[in-house]
Amino acid sequence: MTTLRNFINGEFADPRGGHDFNDLCPATGEVLARVPDSRADDIEDAVAAASSAFNAWSRTPAAERSSILLRIADGIESHAEELARLESDDSGKAVSIARTLDIPRAVLNFRFFATAILHEASECHMVDGRALNYTLRQPVGVAGLISPWNLPLYLLTWKVAPALAAGNTVVAKPSELTPLTANRLAEIAVDAGLPPGVLNIVHGRGEHAGEALTCHPNVPLISFTGGTATGAKVARSAAPLFKKVSLELGGKNPNLVFADANLDEAIPGSVRAAFSNQGELCLCGSRIFVERSICDAFVERFIEATRMLVVGDPREESTHIGALISEPHLRKVESYIELAEREGGTIATGGGHPSGLPERVRHGWFLEPTVITGLAPSCRVLQEEIFGPVVTITPFDDENEAVAMANGTRYGLSASIWTRDLERAHRVAAAIDVGTVWVNTWLLRDLRVPFGGTRDSGVGREGGRYSLEFFTESKNICIKLNIKN
Ligand code: NAD
Repeated sequence: MTTLRNFINGEFADPRGGHDFNDLCPATGEVLARVPDSRADDIEDAVAAASSAFNAWSRTPAAERSSILLRIADGIESHAEELARLESDDSGKAVSIARTLDIPRAVLNFRFFATAILHEASECHMVDGRALNYTLRQPVGVAGLISPWNLPLYLLTWKVAPALAAGNTVVAKPSELTPLTANRLAEIAVDAGLPPGVLNIVHGRGEHAGEALTCHPNVPLISFTGGTATGAKVARSAAPLFKKVSLELGGKNPNLVFADANLDEAIPGSVRAAFSNQGELCLCGSRIFVERSICDAFVERFIEATRMLVVGDPREESTHIGALISEPHLRKVESYIELAEREGGTIATGGGHPSGLPERVRHGWFLEPTVITGLAPSCRVLQEEIFGPVVTITPFDDENEAVAMANGTRYGLSASIWTRDLERAHRVAAAIDVGTVWVNTWLLRDLRVPFGGTRDSGVGREGGRYSLEFFTESKNICIKLNIKN
């Protein structure tokens, strides 16, 4: 068992109060590590270190910052297999997904922003020969970064890389449920030559370490990814201090399948959207709406494909679906299956604990991928984020009804549309109130595009230049000219 420590000012340190808690392995229930239960005084130390490091780091030439961040990317890549196994053990996800999605994306996050800052340009506005305005983009200061457990290193680095690239220093608080890869990132950053204090990692619970970070007066910027209810708390803490805030929150994403769709793509694509990462992705397509004329055939084939998914030991190469993150989360997801029955739905497949699990993981927090039919769009099961391997399938009669159903929740993160009708694809994509629409695909990501949600799915956009804008303040500099032609 490992004992984790915080990473402050380039060194590993125990939490001042000496408190800690267990980090559990979702597949086995065993204790993987003791995690610092940090409080406001630990956050204070980290913010002090980050504030002292800011002056030098923000003035470090972009090419030098870029080289260090590229070395961090190389460091992650050279430890990719070890990190993938660590992530899988810590989060319950299949090692194959950690290996193909989480860790490569962490590498890419650093490479992308390390090179983006070498191509920055800023705006210039001339005033009829009388003045020249140019926009100076400057780092904000100490960035407070708070990330969730479902994509631990992927989402932590999605924040750390642009924050550091833009010249900020960082205090990051990873999820208390998946702290392991964050500490490896700290070690890799030291090896890459990142100066002390530029990146600080404080472990702990949201209500202690997280809240202390969002309330800290010397942290002018908060980038938060997590649940909608937590996002509201973060917004409440940050607002009186007028912090810059980006909130990437929950989703209840619609997946619309029209009768003219190529079902050979739409069915495997919808199954992937439903159950990847145990359905624990904010972007999962958990509300499936299918045009009535093909709905029965779709349900039959969807269930057949779902039953092919292997639920098993996350360490096994053949496993598609691993364990859910924690016992309370498993109970929450199961409670929605019970609710679906009370609301009049039919459990078309799944719904229980998988049988025949290998001995090593027999007591883990597993759930069969579950398909529910027969529920109206207004039911709670279709309104609330479940965040597990549970989807509903509901028929619709025409395009207007499909759009109304897609827009019929408080969430607005993403949507998928499956159709061969190009005009309809554009029309429906424009009508759905979400931050990202995929047409005939799902989770095809490009780091240059704006990413974020509307309504209860969040505020602000990150990705590409949107991240670099968020992690900087723009200042207009107006210079009087006397050009007389
Ligand atoms: P969570 O809100 O419980 O926790 C997220 C982070 O916030 C953790 O680090 C936690 O310790 C911290 N936190 C908790 N309370 C806090 C407080 N009062 N002040 C400051 N920080 C606090 O979310 P989770 O369960 O870790 O993650 C799952 C949620 O994240 C789902 O709702 C999912 O949709 C969402 N998510 C969104 C995106 C996105 O990009 N929109 C991506 C991944 C996950």
